[in-house]
Amino acid sequence: MDPFQNYLKKLDKAKDTIKFNDKIYEILTRPQRIIEVNIPVEMDSGETKIFTGYRVQYNNFRGPYKGGIRYHHNVDMNEVKALSAWMTMKCAVVDIPMGGGKGGIIVNPKQLSKGELERLSRGYIKAMHESIGPFIDVPAPDVYTTPEIMSWMMDEYMKHNGYHYMNRAVITGKPVKDGGSLGRDKSTALGGYYVLLDALEKYSIKNPRVAIQGFGNAGSVMAELLANNKDMIVVAVSDSKGGIYKKDGINVKRLLAHKTETGTVQDFQDAINISNEELLELDVDVLIPAALENQITENNADRIKAKIVLELANGPTTPEADEILFKKNVPVVPDILSNAGGVTVSYFEWLQNLENKYWTLEEVNTKLEKIMRNSFDAVYKTASKYTVDLRTAAYINALQRIEKAYNEMKDT
Ligand code: GLU
Repeated sequence: MDPFQNYLKKLDKAKDTIKFNDKIYEILTRPQRIIEVNIPVEMDSGETKIFTGYRVQYNNFRGPYKGGIRYHHNVDMNEVKALSAWMTMKCAVVDIPMGGGKGGIIVNPKQLSKGELERLSRGYIKAMHESIGPFIDVPAPDVYTTPEIMSWMMDEYMKHNGYHYMNRAVITGKPVKDGGSLGRDKSTALGGYYVLLDALEKYSIKNPRVAIQGFGNAGSVMAELLANNKDMIVVAVSDSKGGIYKKDGINVKRLLAHKTETGTVQDFQDAINISNEELLELDVDVLIPAALENQITENNADRIKAKIVLELANGPTTPEADEILFKKNVPVVPDILSNAGGVTVSYFEWLQNLENKYWTLEEVNTKLEKIMRNSFDAVYKTASKYTVDLRTAAYINALQRIEKAYNEMKDT
């Protein structure tokens, strides 16, 4: 499914539930600005290759555009548009004063050398530096982009706009030595973990058996967090090459070493190799999609056996699948709530840069926990009030806050 259509359908459902302001609704059905750049990069071979990149600045009523940059060979404009719209909703769901944006480059970063990757990342910012800034648009990492890439990007921005400490706030998700926040690396998973604890309690699920699709920054850290909780058990994980299943639980620490050594989670000890599709349909209590869009669809939603789905990926469930799961009484804790821990700590990083100070890890995590738990509670209450699923409730909370910001602006 086209992810932007997915966004529009979910937006419509929330709008119809609360009879939302037509003018603001219309504004939220399209991005405020789209930027497309073609970046010439000198490859190690000496030839020059041109890569296409995007930045979609979706909405800034609540604050500067905010959202990651994705490096993937399947990146396309509609995907980036959807991801930027979801960022708009996400920041509003957790009530941080940021708007929504997203970037992407069509590239398979695994095929580039480190030097090529640096030249590409700098080229993207060189082409884009006038359109971003600490108070305009603040990018961050996403799929296959790293703190090191953020560091190159920040440096390139400063080259053009001045080496001022506040300019470090142009990018978040940086290494701590370059102005990054403590805790940012684990924040997406940790935020999801806090939300999961509350959801398990609300839906009375004890000692959950968990399957996680995706073993990147979000999925692998989530696996670690769950493995450290004696009341939970991780029985399946996967990466882009496939997955593994072990009925009595996976030793996540050993698995991390195995993945570093072999490049995949598969063929691990006596676990059974399974496919990504099989993982989704396992008989578990909690299913955590933590990879890409469109994983739970009308084709497999009926076969999902989990009692609850927690979305760490962006857009893993289609609207048709949402309906099926709702009818089956399987709550889906939506992406714009459960993976908002990443952007929340990005906001903390931005604040620390502007104040030119560092918060302790404890300070970061305490504030993160409060925001995530309050947001879950608010979404849960809205869902009960309107008898809707958690996703529609999250959109409703977001829309009401965006409307408030819009009404407070003088010149629109
Ligand atoms: N890429 C992450 C997301 O989808 C983080 C964005 C950010 O930190 O700005 O939420």
